Amino acid sequence: MTTTRRKCAEAVRAGAAGDLWLSSISMDGDRQYAAPRVDAGTRAESWLARAGLRPTRQRRALAELLIGDGRHRHVTAESLFAAARDAGEGVALATVYNTLKCFTEAGLLTEIAVDGARSYFDTRTEDHPHFYWEDDGALVDAPREGVAFARLPTPPEGAEIARVDVVIRLRRR
Ligand SMILES: [Zn+2]
Repeated sequence: MTTTRRKCAEAVRAGAAGDLWLSSISMDGDRQYAAPRVDAGTRAESWLARAGLRPTRQRRALAELLIGDGRHRHVTAESLFAAARDAGEGVALATVYNTLKCFTEAGLLTEIAVDGARSYFDTRTEDHPHFYWEDDGALVDAPREGVAFARLPTPPEGAEIARVDVVIRLRRR
């Protein structure tokens, strides 16, 4: 943890950075609105810049894979590592993981822990529910309108609820 913090020393909290020009993808994969015509490198650079992160070559390459096409996505360290390798980017899995943690700390990504072993990282940073397909491990956005909480448990003395993560697990019938 302290390692990640040191690596991200120059990061500043960016709030909801990234949602201005990233298009959301609906359940069937259609874009809800068109992203402006910006090339992947420019998009990656300004994404990093808004979080106050120095655009090192590896950060840029990974940022391009994450948001370069202007679409939101959910990745694991392993899936991004595979995408980087396919793109000819020589980067170690540990570096990919550390960079994802760094982007998360800078407010560019949200980390979603689905099971103990694996974290997903989401380029869409505002609160929203997810569907998780148990058979193939895919994490996708679920419609927010369908979720309602009548009650939440009272937090312990001296604590407040920071966030409620909703992951709805699916299996095929
Ligand atoms: Zn999501």
